[in-house]
Amino acid sequence: MSGRKILKPDLQLIKYLKENGGGDLKKCYQCATCTSVCQLSNEEYGFPRRQMLLAQWGLKEQLMKDPSPWLCFYCGDCSKRCPRKGNPGETMMNLRRYLTSCYDWTGLSRLMYSSVFWEIGVLIAVAAVIILLFTLPQNFGFGLLAQSGNAPLTTVMLDKFAPADIVDLGDRIMAIVLALLLLSNASRMFFGLTRDENIPFSFYIKKLPHFVIQGITQKQWGKCGSSDSNTNWIRHLFLVSGYAIMFTLVVVFLPWFQVNGTSLHWTSLLGYYSTIVLLSSTAWIIIDRIKKRTEMHLFSHFSDWLFPILLFLSALSGILLHIFRIINLPLTTYYTYMIHLVIVVPMLVVEVPFGKWSHLLYRPLALYVAAVRSSTKDYLIQEQSTVNNVAASV
Ligand code: SF4
Ligand code: SF4
Repeated sequence: MSGRKILKPDLQLIKYLKENGGGDLKKCYQCATCTSVCQLSNEEYGFPRRQMLLAQWGLKEQLMKDPSPWLCFYCGDCSKRCPRKGNPGETMMNLRRYLTSCYDWTGLSRLMYSSVFWEIGVLIAVAAVIILLFTLPQNFGFGLLAQSGNAPLTTVMLDKFAPADIVDLGDRIMAIVLALLLLSNASRMFFGLTRDENIPFSFYIKKLPHFVIQGITQKQWGKCGSSDSNTNWIRHLFLVSGYAIMFTLVVVFLPWFQVNGTSLHWTSLLGYYSTIVLLSSTAWIIIDRIKKRTEMHLFSHFSDWLFPILLFLSALSGILLHIFRIINLPLTTYYTYMIHLVIVVPMLVVEVPFGKWSHLLYRPLALYVAAVRSSTKDYLIQEQSTVNNVAASV
């Protein structure tokens, strides 16, 4: 009996890719033009040609072990040059969506990526919970923000409408739950990538700085080469900085950030930076998609619209809330506050562990695993050459 492993195609994978992406797998005849033009592809990771093949054959197991889909930053060079117009860049994007849904053990990610009704439905369900928290009568027992009815209508007193300590507690609980969900999904990804690798633990430790640097800067993106890629990379850097600052303000500094009346605080300055960056970058992304400006914007999955739109609306409602508070419009401020939370909370709940946001962790993790593998390989080659030299000298 032969020990050769039988490859098992996953028909669900083929179906998923067909229904959720803009690439056509059947067009690929494996000429490898895409791999040769890709600036990020190398001897070890020959993408996207290999992934086109794995996807055509529905080889899920092989894809789960492969960090390549995350090593692609979607510059679109491969799609421009594909002689068959097979759109390999979009296939890599589609694979990232598929893999995100595989890492998620709850199954929600798959439902939301493959059905716009599910995604919108979950957003509405979370939004409804927020509205209930504000509107439940005080004597209902669990009306967390039930004090909202006591807020004065002559001066803005956000603390009376939504007490900062209660919102702060809710924030932190939500941040912990979302972080745990995301980390549990990321650990599934990590074990999928490293399961068959026999790499000493010390190699993982040595390469940890790589994970941190890529996580913060995503500097690998800068190697794509095209001017579009550089612009997208820099825009992404600003976007992430704005997002990270706003997240920190809301989760760590809320008692200082959510101030009453017309007073300003140092956190407001950071809030201004964050708002400007979030509004401008998301508007730019949305316009790029509407105008189909570059290769990566030619096809848009609904999740490609949803995240920038929600982020834009979060920043917009946040700054409007701030303006209404400064000019002292109590009722308008309170309603805007509620609308702001009705946008922000569902966005975070859906996007952080299950949606597009999660790539901020998955991508550096894949780059990290790829770097660990390379350093192990280099080490083994070096060892082998030392052994050969010693053998040759005796
Ligand atoms: S995707 Fe296009 S360029 Fe790449 S191997 Fe297939 S046919 Fe060739
Ligand atoms: S989209 Fe760009 S980075 Fe991704 S595989 Fe194609 S050429 Fe490479």
